[in-house]
Amino acid sequence: MNEETLDPADWDELRSIGHSMLDDMFEFLQTVRERPVWQPVPDAARQELSEQLPRAGMPIADVYEQFKRAILPFPTGNIHPRFWGWVMGTGTPVAMLADLLASGMNAHVSGYDQSAVLVERQVLEWTAELLGFPLSASGVLTSSGTVANLIGLTVARHVAGGAEIKTAGVARARRLMFYCSAETHSWVRKAVQLLGLGDESLRIVPVRPDFTMDTDALQSLIHSDRAAELQPACVIGTAGTVNTGATDELRMLAAICRLEKIWFHVDGAFGAFAKLSSHAALVDGLELADSVAVDFHKWMYMPFEAGCAVVRDQAAHRATFESTPTYLAPLARGIAPEPLVMAGRGLDLSRGFKALKVWFSLKVHGADVFGRLIDQNIAQARHLASLIENSEMLELLAPVPLNVVCFRYVNRSHSLERLDAINRELVLRVQESGIAVTSSTMLHDQFAIRVAITNHRSRFEDFDLLVRHICAIAGEIDG
Ligand SMILES: *Cc1c(COP(=O)(O)O)cnc(C)c1O
Repeated sequence: MNEETLDPADWDELRSIGHSMLDDMFEFLQTVRERPVWQPVPDAARQELSEQLPRAGMPIADVYEQFKRAILPFPTGNIHPRFWGWVMGTGTPVAMLADLLASGMNAHVSGYDQSAVLVERQVLEWTAELLGFPLSASGVLTSSGTVANLIGLTVARHVAGGAEIKTAGVARARRLMFYCSAETHSWVRKAVQLLGLGDESLRIVPVRPDFTMDTDALQSLIHSDRAAELQPACVIGTAGTVNTGATDELRMLAAICRLEKIWFHVDGAFGAFAKLSSHAALVDGLELADSVAVDFHKWMYMPFEAGCAVVRDQAAHRATFESTPTYLAPLARGIAPEPLVMAGRGLDLSRGFKALKVWFSLKVHGADVFGRLIDQNIAQARHLASLIENSEMLELLAPVPLNVVCFRYVNRSHSLERLDAINRELVLRVQESGIAVTSSTMLHDQFAIRVAITNHRSRFEDFDLLVRHICAIAGEIDG
């Protein structure tokens, strides 16, 4: 019998191409500023990426050539200094190396007596400290903010519904009610639907003119729900909304939740990290939450993916997800002396070593520089806002409390519809120019150009360039 393996027959050959891959990636990162932010994937590349299933292998050098030709040149552009669309992190060279090491180790980070679990525990403790939580808080790294938020809400549901929710499900419980603002990110719909609660269990609280939750409206909704024999279960606050970077009055929400004895969850996907900066007061009260979701792959600039759920009450977190079948039962010694600690804190059983890139980054760069970079991004957002305020052609459409700037081109002689159409075209032409990427949103039913800065490569001059470029293109569109 001819035994096979996926290890190379010639390690030296693989080593040599591996070294050139690494060199090429360093080059790619070092020269990113010189390339267009984004360009459409050309037809030739699309065709190359629509092939027959390869039954037999081919030399890695050939595959790598195809990668360099059809894949590497056509990303979204979020590693570029002038990418400010949606909320995407930039990535870092150090974290890239850590990902390589983690993939090589291929640790199964569900539990077990192994170093990778200790690294994740360490990262979770550091995260708790950075966010102002007690070190006794529980937590788990996740693929995304969506999943980290889902974990927070699942624990909230478990605490409100009692252990019976695991056996009888939500159908037998009194209807559990969740409250969030009209500016909460769309993950919340997925979460209440997945949890079997449905949209009708989600109360959308209106926002004030600064896009933060109207806490009076929240209180009256809670009271009318109680009067209707529904069970208020959880208030979801946001630290840094996706639309405008607004942060709900977290301290006030925490007080309401304490009074009403309901769970307080905070979606801090990017905004929670303002806690590391000199603008920590903006997210004051975050540390009072029962659970928080954050994304290292946004404002901590880590490569995708690394989200994180932090849950204050360890026991509640454990009780929500624990289940130990015989094939996972711990033995007193050996590799598995206790139940699988990380698998017992979320959805995934098989989990990768995401913690390593966070651990490496915090050690190599130190936590303080992340606070300074967040300050830098906030200062850049304020710089952009002042450029807009000083421009005859542009106007701000929302306050700029954090790192998100919403604005548009204005021309007083146009109708609102015409302005929306011009601004829509403007966003597209800026993207297609390759000079910068912004995204867009709707605020008070008006189309807004949206810049969200979670980018450690951006310089102040990049925003000067953006404004010049936008004004020039607006002039072209509007004659
Ligand atoms: C990005 C984002 C999310 C979703 O996080 P993912 O990691 O993209 O799943 C949730 N809330 C806010 C405020 C976000 O910006």
